[in-house]
Amino acid sequence: MILFKLSKDLEDYSQKMRKSADFIGFVPTMGALHDGHLSLIVKSRQKCATTIVSIFINPTQFNNPDDFKKYPVTLEKDIYLLEKNHSDAVFLPTYEEIYGQKVIFKHYDLGYLENILEGKYRPGHFQGVCQVVDRLLNIVKPTHLFLGQKDYQQCMVIKKLIDLMPFHIDLIICPTLREPDGLAMSSRNLRLSEQQRKQATEIYRCLVFLHKHLSAGSLEPLKSKVKDYLTNNGFKVDYVEICDADSLISVSEWDGKQRLIALVATYVGEVRLIDNMLLNDSRIFE
Ligand code: AMP
Repeated sequence: MILFKLSKDLEDYSQKMRKSADFIGFVPTMGALHDGHLSLIVKSRQKCATTIVSIFINPTQFNNPDDFKKYPVTLEKDIYLLEKNHSDAVFLPTYEEIYGQKVIFKHYDLGYLENILEGKYRPGHFQGVCQVVDRLLNIVKPTHLFLGQKDYQQCMVIKKLIDLMPFHIDLIICPTLREPDGLAMSSRNLRLSEQQRKQATEIYRCLVFLHKHLSAGSLEPLKSKVKDYLTNNGFKVDYVEICDADSLISVSEWDGKQRLIALVATYVGEVRLIDNMLLNDSRIFE
């Protein structure tokens, strides 16, 4: 595995690999790697001759400075895991390497996606995501980009971003990997106490509950029931939503046919966790 710190070197490497007419798979991460991240690498290796992973904790996507400061860093272990899982290259840029000395931030027109769900509770978050992903994609110029369904709205935002890119990238959305008790794997799980870790499994149980109790007609009582349940069990809930799986617009009345996704964002203590589940169709947006 080759370790890159400079964009120019990675750009040259990726260009050389592309010249041999092979697919280049790219997996952007913020590190503290777990099996969810590694599953993206497995998918990339199945499809692409070269797999490049980046580890960069992007400050511009954190609306809460404390969350940024406390984001877990396990770099040595990450490099070991990447090597063990046969990544071809890892990019470990500094802030300056990504944004340069004089930062001029572009604004991305994300439409309503910017202000709903994660966008509503984390103002500026998706602009930050686009800033870093735009830069990374222009360095790596991958043929395939691997993202996790765990960050469903982020997948939709990045799909919008790559549609605007001057070169074609295939977006591959990979299923959410879970712990045996259902909790979605997340780097932030490392910040949970033993007690909070147990409590956090309720999020998955609530998604399963929504899946099980979905029926045509008004969805508001079901959403409220789950939100109240979480609140009464010590969670500080940002949202429990059922949305159209293609547009992410909230659905109040279900016709029994529309493809739906349930999404939850909640604090367990100080740690904010998100998860989602497709309710009536396993297809991810096209
Ligand atoms: P992060 O390091 O949290 O920015 O995540 C990097 C990539 O891994 C993103 O595309 C995430 O959606 C994906 N990812 C995070 N958690 C999981 C998971 N449990 N299963 C599958 N993919 C995941």
